[in-house]
Amino acid sequence: MVLGEQKNERAELRAMKAGAGQSVQRLSVLGATGSIGQSTLDLVGRHPDRFEVVALTANGDVKGLAELAIRHRAKMAVVADPEGYQDLAKALSGTGIVVAAGGDALVEAASQPADCVVASIVGAAGLVPTLAAVRQGRRVALANKECLVAAGELFMREVSAADTELLPVDSEHSAAFQAIGASAARDIEAITLTASGGPFRNWDHERLKAAKPEQALRHPNWSMGAKITIDSATMMNKGLELIEALHLFPVTISQLDCVVHPQSIVHCLVSYRDGSVLAQMASPDMRTPIALALSWPERIDTPTKRLDLAELGQLTFERPDDRRFPAIRLAREAMAAGGAAPAVLNAANEVAVMAFLENRIGFLDIPAVVSDCLDAASSGALCRAVDHIDEILAVDLAARELARSMLEKRGVA
Ligand code: NAD
Ligand code: MG
Repeated sequence: MVLGEQKNERAELRAMKAGAGQSVQRLSVLGATGSIGQSTLDLVGRHPDRFEVVALTANGDVKGLAELAIRHRAKMAVVADPEGYQDLAKALSGTGIVVAAGGDALVEAASQPADCVVASIVGAAGLVPTLAAVRQGRRVALANKECLVAAGELFMREVSAADTELLPVDSEHSAAFQAIGASAARDIEAITLTASGGPFRNWDHERLKAAKPEQALRHPNWSMGAKITIDSATMMNKGLELIEALHLFPVTISQLDCVVHPQSIVHCLVSYRDGSVLAQMASPDMRTPIALALSWPERIDTPTKRLDLAELGQLTFERPDDRRFPAIRLAREAMAAGGAAPAVLNAANEVAVMAFLENRIGFLDIPAVVSDCLDAASSGALCRAVDHIDEILAVDLAARELARSMLEKRGVA
């Protein structure tokens, strides 16, 4: 669970202190140039008295990173791609901002003294730096759901060991976190994540088969990075989120469900033993859940469009279609298998999504490749129990190899 009773007590203490005089919060953003990173920095820009930027990182977008580092007066800027070092150093020369590059530098950025680290790298690439932030005892605002999919047990154990907080940025999990509040685990009957259904919600099999990346990238409600947008189209995003929820909240697999809600206004529903259902609603704008993860247990202003339910008129719900969108079932199978299976699912999905984005495979090949990998892994050494970050990284690497060999079998170069 994200927060136990003891942590709620600590939250109250912090709220009392906050009331006594708000202090500046030092913030680092891993994946600053991405969609979540930029939304975070947009909030930072709106609350100059509240936040101070420590470290910002990016994969290869040196220009974007340098601009953000200068605008937000960061102390450190790190580019993951070592080849970006010279350009970044040139762009930031004379600013006093410390510049570094490469994997170790990402860990260094994550480990800088800060009150909160926003984990918004995409994919398993965020595992090691995010874990470093946890181990330093930083509050982690977690957008990078692949961390919990690939290494959920390890992460939650490390969060407990460091006695720190992992606050969900994912809108559904932020909603669940709010709807659960201080409720006892025994009172929760079910958690239902909502899914927009993505751009292909009403497409039939033939159209799905021919779907192109540019069509899949046109999400009806959310503006997000490419990988998660494709995950939304296949509905693997909801599968990953079910696994994420299993680690964050005190529920079992059978207590987790999802429902398609095309308007993306209700983000999650928590059902209680007395028949009550608590839901959280907001316009689809990630600045709302990001703001809560940064400011909890307080709240801060955001420019998110205010809800006008009368104007919306209708909120609708329907069951996901497992035949056209098998990804949720695949994620459930991996979740039930446990051990390294979710890490295999995640790695295979990352490889397949990239191949689709590069026009090397069709849309329906994405879940097919993931399914092939899970089948192959379940009979081999890949789906063993994993307990250490090095073991998880080894599984991640091997599963990527396996996925590439599955692509080759399908005649993909
Ligand atoms: P994005 O593609 O827009 O940004 C990703 C960021 O990670 C960029 O700054 C990029 O430079 C960096 N990055 C990419 N590969 C890297 C690597 N190998 N090493 C180091 N840095 C790397 O993605 P996003 O949409 O901002 O999503 C980020 C994470 O947040 C994902 O895990 C996603 O599932 C999650 N999330 C996003 C949204 C959203 O609305 N965008 C909502 C919920 C959850
Ligand atoms: Mg989400």
